Amino acid sequence: MGLKNILIISEDKTDHLVLCSSLERAVPQRFNVTIATSLERPIDALMDHSNDAVILAQAPETDYLLRLAQKNEASVPIIVLLAEASPATVARVKNLGARDFLVRGNIQDDLLHRILDYSIELSAARTRIQSLSNRDALTGVLNRTGFRAHVERAIARSERHQSNTALLYINIDRFTNINDQYGEGAGDQAIKVIAKRLSSKKRNTDSVARLGGDEFAIVLEDVSAESNVDMVAEKMMASISEPMRLNQQQVAIEVSIGSAVCPENGGRFEDLVEAARNAMSQAKAVPGNKYFRYTDQLSFNSSGSSSLTADLRQAVRNDQFELYYQPRIDLKSEQVVGLEALIRWAHPERGLVRPDEFLPLCENMGLMKIIGHRVIEKACAAINWLDNAGLENIDVAVNVSFSQFQDNRFSEIVKDIVETSGIEPKRLEFELTESVVLKSFAQTKLRMEELRKLGHSFSLDDFGTGFSQLSHMTELPISALKIDQSFVNGAATNKQHKAVCMMIIDMAQRLDLKVIAEGAEDLEQVQFLKNANCHQVQGFYYSPAIPLQQIPRFAKEQMYSQSSFEAP
Ligand code: C2E
Ligand code: CA
Ligand code: CA
Repeated sequence: MGLKNILIISEDKTDHLVLCSSLERAVPQRFNVTIATSLERPIDALMDHSNDAVILAQAPETDYLLRLAQKNEASVPIIVLLAEASPATVARVKNLGARDFLVRGNIQDDLLHRILDYSIELSAARTRIQSLSNRDALTGVLNRTGFRAHVERAIARSERHQSNTALLYINIDRFTNINDQYGEGAGDQAIKVIAKRLSSKKRNTDSVARLGGDEFAIVLEDVSAESNVDMVAEKMMASISEPMRLNQQQVAIEVSIGSAVCPENGGRFEDLVEAARNAMSQAKAVPGNKYFRYTDQLSFNSSGSSSLTADLRQAVRNDQFELYYQPRIDLKSEQVVGLEALIRWAHPERGLVRPDEFLPLCENMGLMKIIGHRVIEKACAAINWLDNAGLENIDVAVNVSFSQFQDNRFSEIVKDIVETSGIEPKRLEFELTESVVLKSFAQTKLRMEELRKLGHSFSLDDFGTGFSQLSHMTELPISALKIDQSFVNGAATNKQHKAVCMMIIDMAQRLDLKVIAEGAEDLEQVQFLKNANCHQVQGFYYSPAIPLQQIPRFAKEQMYSQSSFEAP
């Protein structure tokens, strides 16, 4: 056991003498004493982590000091040295957070030593428990709760000292590809390596957190200039993107980083995180490793991106977006029963751009609503086109984003588009992710009710990635669950993924919901899903998203194809 630092705060020399000599007599020797007669900066002394316990002699300012410690959540145990132990006084100081008390003239060695040992032990245990609940289990860095606590403390400090606190928001590009290509285990391994690299590059006062699957954040305290933030971001980026070994292969990872500074870009935890995340999303729209600062305007400092925003506005003007359609196959009949409409940007120079590369930017530029309406218009036109091609049994699902669903006029607009097109509303389905639902539950529920009354149905997309609020989901008019591809992909080989798939299928059946597996890539996975009584499947095994014109041929081939697994 190392030496424990005990701070004694008393104006009375006798207190010093009595306490010091008692503490010196401790066997084994374990207390190192510091004496203060009055506190010039009491808060600093109480928050000083080098003190293991404080003995505070009763004085006119005792209550004030205890309150101060309580308010600042000082973790150091405070033992009050009272003149006399009346029940009222004891109750009062305990109420104010004192861990224990001693009485002048009645200080026995073993009592004093025991109180100190016990208080220090208890504080350490509390800190340990707290740190466990503040930590991410996989990487050991802070989790969201821990991160929030640190950022809030940093914001309070920066207000006091008129300094700046900055946040970096880091997202791994195409992380699902790593999981897909090298397996979930390798994905976890990559996350751990990244957490370690970030932690090793940070300063002592800063902390690294994992906010979700492939998202990290760093809080930088007391930053003097924006260029310092830029420097740290570049350093972190360089360190993450150094090649790492996964499954005996060298893999290079690319990241998108966004930063925001307090108080300039936001004075509260939520605002600051949101601003940094926004900047990250903007960065995400540019390929390769990149870092963006948060800016209110949508003009970017970083070269290359501004042309992308200009290109996007142009794209909206000239309607350069196209829908590709991925077939949904019924596992019993093996026929096409539905299509998911997936947007593509036909960029004049870059060719087809995938949605992950430009939708986040559209969202930030406020273009998502208009793009979303066009998607619905095109999907309705597609349903009419399918009818003309003799495929009246195929439904179409479109993805909707958070901002579309936030729009109070959304249902009205949908109604208008659907009526104009003349399609049957039940042929048009909407896909919502759990995260969209959870961001604003009441609003989402309301919107879903409106659309359900119009005759539309819903499936819950990427299901399984955010199990937390499952109970809420049963309140929503959902007709299908789509098992996230990360589980489907691993189902044939990974026990846990298999269990998640089975659980979702089982649950869906009990709730009388359809269940659709996404991202099935090989026969083994399809076979597994079929055996597990999954209703429908979507994935490269059958087809990627293809242009509408190719659907009739695909549907026909499917009709004539021998069932691959019912062969003898
Ligand atoms: P999502 O809704 O989860 O779409 C499924 C994505 O998985 C599609 O990517 C699809 O091409 C891909 N995929 C399908 N089968 C497989 C497979 O077997 N293996 C693998 N590895 N991938 C498969 P895509 O088209 O790049 O779309 C990405 C995301 O962009 C979609 O995820 C969706 O959230 C969003 N998105 C696409 N179109 C729209 C749209 O019109 N509006 C909105 N709001 N979001 C859209
Ligand atoms: Ca979807
Ligand atoms: Ca999905």
